[in-house]
Amino acid sequence: MSSTVKVPVTKPYLPSRDRLNQYIDGIYERKWLTNNGKLVQDLTRRLSDHLEVENLLLVSNGTLALQVAYRALGLLDPQDTSTKIEAITSPFTFIATASSLKWEGISPVFADIDPETWCLDPKNIESKISDNTRAIVPVHVFGNACDVEEIDHISKKYGLKVIYDASHAFDVRYKSASLLSWGDASTLSFHATKLFHTGEGGAVIFKNKEDLARAQKIINFGITGPEKIESLGINAKMNELQAALGLSILDEFSEIIDSRRKISEAYRNELDSIIVRQKISTDLSYNYAYFPVLLQSEEEVISVLRDLSQQGVLARRYFYPSLDLVPYLGYIGDKMAESVSISKRILCLPIYSELGISDVLSICEVIKNSLADHRKKSY
Ligand SMILES: *Cc1c(COP(=O)(O)O)cnc(C)c1O
Repeated sequence: MSSTVKVPVTKPYLPSRDRLNQYIDGIYERKWLTNNGKLVQDLTRRLSDHLEVENLLLVSNGTLALQVAYRALGLLDPQDTSTKIEAITSPFTFIATASSLKWEGISPVFADIDPETWCLDPKNIESKISDNTRAIVPVHVFGNACDVEEIDHISKKYGLKVIYDASHAFDVRYKSASLLSWGDASTLSFHATKLFHTGEGGAVIFKNKEDLARAQKIINFGITGPEKIESLGINAKMNELQAALGLSILDEFSEIIDSRRKISEAYRNELDSIIVRQKISTDLSYNYAYFPVLLQSEEEVISVLRDLSQQGVLARRYFYPSLDLVPYLGYIGDKMAESVSISKRILCLPIYSELGISDVLSICEVIKNSLADHRKKSY
């Protein structure tokens, strides 16, 4: 096995140093580093325009974005600590979707995904609703849209809140409008490895102004004035240096998308006949945040991973394991057959702006040879 990784699964995007410096010069002039400074306000406005959303709140990371959303929407009743409340969510996602619920004292109850879109299947939601269910927390996994209309219908029928973990869905439009305007709230992660980032960071987009106002208090310790501490809060504020990075990257965002689209197309040309891809919902403008492929068996995944790593290429098993199998989450219901099966066979291939098309082609050669060995065919 090669000891040096030449091609990681992703590389954080770094903006032009000159551009970043211009924003940082302003920070040095103002000597204002956090607590809703100028750059955080500018980034809030610019992102709201870019994403075409209202009621956007910047926060310090994508996990706190979820936790702040649960709190602002009042999933937990602080007067009633005896009821064990539940939220229905997807097992096929990053651990933070479920761990943020658990951290807030909410039990994640899993419902299985659709085997083609890999998002929470609305068909599986209703049988999981109990008297203690307060919310549905679906994930737009890899930037694909959940069945938002059907989830909206179910949530209204049962009076449940909907919080979309939209960490992968930056800039995704569905039926010509922002996908992020669905649900009571949608959350974004701006972690360094994400499509758009601020090093660490995140955002919540609320449907209602009142929920935004509550969240604004929550992220600043519940402090509402120089001598006024109104309610329970936490520190989840974004700072000026994070915002400077975000503003610089937003200035270059169209180039980021262009380069990723080209990489994605090159992979598809080479691989579409031998791998299965996620079925992207119709009417979606996709963001090319990831390039996940589904193989026929876990053995294929292991051999492709091994053959790639011998060439210094790191692909990753996102998302594995299926979260219903993570013991500490305490899930005890039926097994999530689709999620378990897909998580064993999934692989995310390298995709980032700097990745050259020649590297993409060599990666595809390795994958073709590896799968040909397995399937005793030639590709
Ligand atoms: C990255 C990610 C998160 C967590 O975001 P952080 O900014 O790293 O805290 C949550 N959910 C999903 C689906 C993610 O991919």
